Amino acid sequence: MPELPEMETYRLQLTPLIQGMTITGVEVTRPKSLNVEPERFAQALTGSRIVRIDRRAKHLIFLLATGEVLLLHLMLGGSLFYGSAEEKPDRTAQVVIDFGTKNLYFIGLRLGYLHLHKLADLESLLSKLGPEPLESDFTFDEFQQVLKGKKGSLKVTLVDQTVLSGIGNCYSDEICFYAGLLPIRKVPSFNIEELNRLYQAMRTVLHEAIGYGGYMDSPLFAGDRLTGGFDARCRVYDREGEPCMRCRHPLIKVEVSSRKCFYCANCQI
Ligand SMILES: [Zn+2]
Repeated sequence: MPELPEMETYRLQLTPLIQGMTITGVEVTRPKSLNVEPERFAQALTGSRIVRIDRRAKHLIFLLATGEVLLLHLMLGGSLFYGSAEEKPDRTAQVVIDFGTKNLYFIGLRLGYLHLHKLADLESLLSKLGPEPLESDFTFDEFQQVLKGKKGSLKVTLVDQTVLSGIGNCYSDEICFYAGLLPIRKVPSFNIEELNRLYQAMRTVLHEAIGYGGYMDSPLFAGDRLTGGFDARCRVYDREGEPCMRCRHPLIKVEVSSRKCFYCANCQI
């Protein structure tokens, strides 16, 4: 499932492509991906413009000139493609938004959704989400505050969207590895020095992943060389049995509350 760096990569790359562009048409092949009737959806979008694209947690928010917003969550298996009908990958798009000759394709939107809301309703819709880990005002003190009272394992706590926004299965493991800490340890067992390492690792890994375009395996547009660049740079995720790049010990995979979890049992403490 795309996490913060994947959605941020989409936002950064999509903005110069569609910001300010007028929507010329809409096709919906899976009405269930929407929260309104396809006719109402098409009516709200057609003729309007994309004013801005924001990201919150694993959501993208498309702000329309009408004052309404599109709230996107790709969930598992979802991806985006921007281009002409000829360039589009051979996968079913559940929603297509047209911008003249180029279109934005919402692919694999089966668990995911693209909902139309009033801008004023957005805050309450997203109110349960924890803080954004890369916000400049999210300090180490704040980080300690959000972890205070959490009793679960580090893995489960990091992926809990009500605690922190945007971190999922891959980056929770990558952050723990970078910090040299075991994801299976309970949160109260960490001392302040370890928590500081964790905080720094979180910011470093997420920034690094955005810089390399996240791990999505399909490009956003023809000629896109950024998207997916971080996939080969994952240090532990999906690398069961491979040697740890720090100590050469084979990496292991366990299940933590039915989530896949990869780490080095030798150098993560
Ligand atoms: Zn190791």
